[in-house]
Amino acid sequence: MPLFALEIRAQLENVTALRPASDDYTLMVRTKCNSCHEEHPKLVGITPGSEIEMKGGRGTADFVMSCSFCKRESSATFPQPTSKAPLWRPYSPSPDSGPVWAPICTLDVRGMDIIGFEPEGIWSCQGTGEGSKLSKFDEVEFDGGEWTDYDEKSGEPVSIMELEGRWVRA
Ligand SMILES: [Zn+2]
Repeated sequence: MPLFALEIRAQLENVTALRPASDDYTLMVRTKCNSCHEEHPKLVGITPGSEIEMKGGRGTADFVMSCSFCKRESSATFPQPTSKAPLWRPYSPSPDSGPVWAPICTLDVRGMDIIGFEPEGIWSCQGTGEGSKLSKFDEVEFDGGEWTDYDEKSGEPVSIMELEGRWVRA
């Protein structure tokens, strides 16, 4: 079962715990067919819990697509989350380490390779204050991989810059 992890890297200023805002976030990715090696021309969305039927009674997946060139069917599914491996893992690099790669989710991928990622949709993160000083940002949207705001509780500027993603074998 080919398992791939999406790792992200970003420059976080005064925020931590970056992740998609909701569990059923649709992950937008680029794919390439394993049979004919053609890249799919568009971004495709993979949503946890979709339960789409695969051909030939092979069960369900979160994403099913027939290659537009060779027609072969491919699929992707988020593994069942566990307490050790939740569906989405918050990106919380230590303030001293600077931008480091860390996995935020895994996908069981069949019949294709996943080769790209776009941080579309709504994300969330939180400030670095404690207790009543903790700010939550629930509507983080990226424009060119960047987001900026102001933390009213801590009185500090907050930003996420240079967000990028890569897929690695898990
Ligand atoms: Zn193909």
